[in-house]
Amino acid sequence: MGRPETTQVSTLAATLGASFTLHGAGVSGGIAIGYAHLASTARLEVAHYEVAGSEIEAEVERLDVAVEQVRGELIGLHAAVPTDAPAELAAFLDLHLMILNDALLSAAPRELVRKRRWNAEWALVHQMEMLVQRFEEVEDLYLRERKSDVQQVVERVLKAMLGTGHMPAPPAHEENIIVVAHDFSPADMILFKQHQFAGFVTDLGGVTSHTAIVARSLNLPAIVGLHHARQMIREAELLIVDGVAGVLIVNPDRQVLAEYELRRSQFELERQKLKRLKTTPAATLEGERVELQANIELPADVEQALDFGAMGVGLFRTEFLFLNRDDLPDEDEQFEAYRQVVQAMNGLPVTIRTLDLGADKALNGAHFLGPNPALGLRAIRFCLAEPQMFLTQLRAILRASRYGAVRLLVPMVAHPHEIDQVHHYVAIAKDTLLHSGVHFDPNVPLGAMIEIPAAALAVGAFVKKLDFLSIGTNDLIQYTLAIDRTDDNVAHLYDPLHPAVLHLVAHTIRTAAKAGLQVAVCGEMAGQIELTRLLLGMGLRQFSMHPAQLLAIKQQVLRSSIPEVEVFAQRILRSEDPERTRALLDKLNA
Ligand code: PEP
Ligand code: MG
Repeated sequence: MGRPETTQVSTLAATLGASFTLHGAGVSGGIAIGYAHLASTARLEVAHYEVAGSEIEAEVERLDVAVEQVRGELIGLHAAVPTDAPAELAAFLDLHLMILNDALLSAAPRELVRKRRWNAEWALVHQMEMLVQRFEEVEDLYLRERKSDVQQVVERVLKAMLGTGHMPAPPAHEENIIVVAHDFSPADMILFKQHQFAGFVTDLGGVTSHTAIVARSLNLPAIVGLHHARQMIREAELLIVDGVAGVLIVNPDRQVLAEYELRRSQFELERQKLKRLKTTPAATLEGERVELQANIELPADVEQALDFGAMGVGLFRTEFLFLNRDDLPDEDEQFEAYRQVVQAMNGLPVTIRTLDLGADKALNGAHFLGPNPALGLRAIRFCLAEPQMFLTQLRAILRASRYGAVRLLVPMVAHPHEIDQVHHYVAIAKDTLLHSGVHFDPNVPLGAMIEIPAAALAVGAFVKKLDFLSIGTNDLIQYTLAIDRTDDNVAHLYDPLHPAVLHLVAHTIRTAAKAGLQVAVCGEMAGQIELTRLLLGMGLRQFSMHPAQLLAIKQQVLRSSIPEVEVFAQRILRSEDPERTRALLDKLNA
């Protein structure tokens, strides 16, 4: 589709449809101006076109060949399932084969091509959407969740057809495109790293969902929780995304457009100015050093971390290496990924978190999620239930430790005995490597994420068994306030300033300091400028955040005085009245 450059938009705006505004939650800073591109998911964007009568049989053949190819792939993958893979992997491949063989997917789209002259992709996706809708109406939770299996099988067939059709090229000038979707999974979102869209907006999602976290790491203006955007916006309509205020303006008039173009350049200017701080050490007015590190999802993110002056990786969310694929990365593949990051950081600490799979980040075909995935077999619980998979990862991490300063971080601990079990598996992994003559750092520090209220309250029982702590405020808030972080219906209740949350964070920092342990915050609170002084006042000296936020936080640290922020932090911790807390925080940041 030929989209004009956004610089020409002022003259075109008036020719477009009626202007309206939608409100959601801004997840990522900045302003984007561009043209809407409607997407089902990042993976299921297909072209719709009619096939000439003489080409119909060739189009059916194209579909048949792709289905056959996918059948072969699935059978091959099934045969190659490693012995250390969770049992679900083989079961899920069986299920996918069954779906592929079902006439509703293999035969019905052929009829659509023949009768309606639709191209094969269109016919397939239409049939898939019809099936997904049927699944959504089913009461049984297990069956309802199988709709994602249908989607995954269709994706495979679409991928097999890629390059064999007459599809028009994907939208040119990605930098002018704003993707509009009903929802994206974290796995969809990670694929955005290969694109250069101007921004994106979704109907669903909370600000600390993993989808939003990845969006933030992309440094793109984005809004979630808009409810009806996908329905109300038409392809190629002009959009303004204000990722700070969470406002989406559709078909803006000239005046509004000019105003936002100005704001966008001011924002860009500020961003450029901050770059001057890249090599300035992060220290308060008294010269007290503060460590600012980066959160990354993929090895390639390390480049951005260094660009923004990160003094280490405070959180490497390794589970993203496991998404968007049907097999598991083996020990060598994982080792290469970890080594790449460790070497790029050149001696600076790299905190590698063991798999935090489950909840909204599930392996393809994972059926173990249970009725309430956020409370289910997630993170360390899943790893301890799948020791072979866990050991593979531990060996890969240990092997990478030889190339720099690796730290091992375990997510979602609730019981001290989980740490004992982790020590046990680390010892086994070390033994195996020793016996094979593989070198590694024998003193890799072991830390745990404090992100379950029980662990924060009983943190004294954990510090004895660990070398460092990292507070995962995203989950800590989710579990303390009992609100699903992915659910926009309760997103307004997500409150980092809730006294219960602040007490748990303060208690963890205090206990770690008393025990002489390093403690960081690596949840989204660490990257929120309005909370920097409060956290400093609570005694925090290590922050880990998405790289794009590092310099703004550094600027705030440079302007802060420890004795002053300590007084305010104490007063805020004593406050039980939200309005007083807010007023004190405003004063602290004035
Ligand atoms: C957290 O929970 O705060 C955290 C950093 O981990 P994740 O967002 O990956 O769950
Ligand atoms: Mg977490």
